[in-house]
Amino acid sequence: MFPGTLSGGVVGRALEKKIWSYDTINIRDFAINNYGSVDDEQFGGGAGMVMRPDVVGNAIDSIKNPGKIIFFSPRGKPLNQQMVHEYIKNDTITLLCGRYEGLDQRVIDEYDIEEVSIGDYVLSGGELAAQVFVDTAVRLLDNVLGGGLDSTQNESFEIGGLEWPLYTRPSVWRGHKVPEVLLSGHHGNIERWRKQQSDEITKERRPDLIKEN
Ligand code: SAH
Repeated sequence: MFPGTLSGGVVGRALEKKIWSYDTINIRDFAINNYGSVDDEQFGGGAGMVMRPDVVGNAIDSIKNPGKIIFFSPRGKPLNQQMVHEYIKNDTITLLCGRYEGLDQRVIDEYDIEEVSIGDYVLSGGELAAQVFVDTAVRLLDNVLGGGLDSTQNESFEIGGLEWPLYTRPSVWRGHKVPEVLLSGHHGNIERWRKQQSDEITKERRPDLIKEN
């Protein structure tokens, strides 16, 4: 599953340039038997299997320098741009991807693991969540985006709301014109228009973002 989507685009190029790197650990290598078992039934009953603490603990202990450990879980703190800015201050992060119903609570407690969610829906595994996390983190690292600091700062969530509408050539397409102000070359007016558009869209679609700021 790795690098998966992380091999493409700017994040993939940054991987080739060694701006970031990763190792994967297959939890099955720490299985309790030759069948590769890493999970077991839930104490207290109920459907679904749980990842065993002995297996996952041994997998974590095999990492020389795990750094901060994150477990992806719908129960976790919802990931946002501000959290990503904090996480990239770490040189090394270990991302633990769940399967089945999830992970024995004792592993979370033992290693003081942070639980992170990528949204209010349930995936079948944590690998996609890990790739979302890495993608959003790596694009904030120096020398990853072509436009430099400007490309990461002029963006939804960084500007205190959602992005304004974007336009490119041709200036007329199927009879639809690009807003006049964008062709005016008047930077002050363009900036005001963008701010006003951004405010309107944010108010309509994500009023929660306005209250937060
Ligand atoms: N029983 C869990 C869901 C398990 S889904 C519950 O009710 O909360 C299996 C695995 O997929 C999880 O352990 C987690 O690692 C991953 N996963 C599913 N949804 C996720 C989400 N929204 N964010 C992050 N990881 C998620």
